[in-house]
Formats: sequence, structure tokens, C-alpha cells
Amino acid sequence: MTEEKQFNYDVIIIGAGPAGMTTALYASRANLSVLMLDRGIYGGNLNNTATIENYTGFPSVQGPDLAKQMYDGATQFGAKYAYGTVEKVELDGNLKKITTDMGETYTAKALVIASGSEQKKLGVAGEQEYGGKGVSYCAVCDGAFFKGKHLVVVGGGDSAVEEGMYLTQFADKVSVLVRKDHLRAAAVAQDKAKKNDKMEFIFNTSVTAIEGDDQKVTKVKTHNNATGEDGEMQADGVFIYVGNVPMTAPFADLGILDDQGWVITDDHMATKVPGIFAVGDVRETLLRQIATAVGDGALAGQEVFKYFDNLK
Ligand code: NDP
Repeated sequence: MTEEKQFNYDVIIIGAGPAGMTTALYASRANLSVLMLDRGIYGGNLNNTATIENYTGFPSVQGPDLAKQMYDGATQFGAKYAYGTVEKVELDGNLKKITTDMGETYTAKALVIASGSEQKKLGVAGEQEYGGKGVSYCAVCDGAFFKGKHLVVVGGGDSAVEEGMYLTQFADKVSVLVRKDHLRAAAVAQDKAKKNDKMEFIFNTSVTAIEGDDQKVTKVKTHNNATGEDGEMQADGVFIYVGNVPMTAPFADLGILDDQGWVITDDHMATKVPGIFAVGDVRETLLRQIATAVGDGALAGQEVFKYFDNLK
């Protein structure tokens, strides 16, 4: 006999990245019924991350491997996982009603927003057209298609530098185009990258267009922000790492977002709506790391438990 699908929970967590999974672990271990809802596989941005070297206890671990270990831990006390893209959240007294693109409505007394962020688009001509034909936002997913090729990476933060390094195991050369005259990435990553013969950093340079032969990318058009000169560079692929934007569209009407769309919380991970919490990258916060996401999750799990206690 198949198990009947459950739609009512104590706690629903939107997003099963490190923050959401940790909340699920803590809340389910406190005997609450917990559902993680995600639009894809558990792990969130861990699935787009190659090597992680700054998560305590794991000197070096691949993002998808860490995701699996976190998932096993998060579900060991009964937390469930379901697939669905959340489209709407409505309040009905204490109850939060969550509707997904599958036409399903779930309800819970506590809602934890852990929907994270997604990569920003560069917004130049050719970016959309050559998506899947050489333009990528995920080195782990697409890097292996570029053996022996020349790749352009756009951006100067941790992602651009670290994912650029990852790409050197496939590509012959990786040119990182940085719009300013310096990188924003952590010094340790910069030092490592600058010692890699396959990595090249080109500063003061913006990409203004991505061009190809209809089938695949062949070059990028560039603009030098110091000299004002326009130019171009041959490229077999373009990996874009220019920052992140929050995934908060379904929560826009709840009055809990700042002017850039990040969720505003207090020190207890609580939003101003009773019973709605937020954790991880989706929060308006100073640092977005796996370690901080996990910390947020632990705190929220505990706070959700207290919220239920106070309802009694
Ligand atoms: P960041 O926001 O840190 O960096 C974005 C980079 O892209 C900056 O160099 C920025 O330039 C550049 N940029 C933005 N817009 C454009 C544009 N239109 N054209 C060209 N360049 C542009 O994003 P990341 O994805 O690197 O990192 C996101 C967060 O995740 C950060 O907090 C980061 O520390 C964290 N992270 C941590 C890792 C780790 O600790 N191992 C690994 C990966 C990410 P400018 O400086 O001029 O604004």
C-alpha cells in the first residue's frame, strides 16, 4: 500500500540547502513534524560548488558529496523532503498556506524560508542566446565539456576565482575578466590562483557581449574601463560569476523583504510575521557561507521549537 501524501506539518522549510537541512535536523529532533520543500535536489548551491576548503571538519570536500551527507543527517529524525517550486505563501490566522507549481497546497504553523540565492545574470547580448552553448553558471556541471579549450570567467569574487581554478583541470587556459583593478576574493584563494600557470587575470575589463557561430560561443567583446578601449577575446566558453540575487519572489507580499529582496530577520532568525523565520543566504546578512548557513539553521530549529511551546 502506498503511503498517503501528507500536506500538514508543524514546520515547513522552503529550500533544502545547508541552512534548510540544518533547520530540519534540529526541528525534527525536537519532535516536530517537518517538511523541506525544494524546487530541485537537496543541497542548493552546494551542487554548483566544486571543492570546499572552509567548512570545519572537512579539510577538502566536493559540494555534492557534502550535500548528500547533510541530507542523510537532516532526515535521520523523520524530516521529509518534497519536490515543488513555491509560488505563493498566504496567512490564515496562525496557519501558513504554501502553494507550489504542482498545484499542491501545504499548511504549517511555522514557516522557515531557506530558499537561498541564485547567480546573477551578466545582462549582455548573447548571454541568453548561448546559454547551454558555451555560456554557463556552473563549473561543476559543465567544466568537463571544455577539455583543452580556452575559457573566459567573468567576475572577481570567491566564486570566480575558485570555480576558475576548478576549470583549469579541463581547460588549457582560463582568463578571468575583472571589471575593477583588483579582486574581491579571499587572499588565500587569490594566492593559489595566481600561482596556477593556466590562470590569467585581466583587470579593468568588462564583457559587453558574447558572440558565436550560432552553435557555440567563439568570442567575447570587451571594454577596458581604464583606457576606454573596446576589444575582443577568443573564447570557447564563458562562465559567469558576478554575484547572487535572493530567491524571494513568493514572499514579496509578506512585508519582510529589504529593498533588494533579502529577508529581514532579528537575531532569533524571526521575521516580523509571527511563525515565519528565515535562514542562510536568503537573509539580509553580513556573511554568506556554509558555516553561517548551518549556524542560522541550528538557531532557527531551536526558535521554532520555542515558538510551538509558546503556542501551547
Ligand atoms: P560576489 O558578490 O562576492 O562577487 C561578485 C563579483 O562579480 C565581484 O568581483 C564584482 O565586481 C563582479 N561583478 C558584479 N557585477 C558584474 C558585472 N556586471 N560585470 C562584471 N563583474 C561584475 O559574488 P560571489 O558569487 O563570488 O560570492 C557570493 C558570496 O558567496 C560571497 O559572500 C562570497 O564570499 C561567498 N562565497 C564564498 C566562498 C568560500 O568562502 N569558499 C566560495 C564562493 C562564494 P566588483 O568587485 O567590482 O563589485
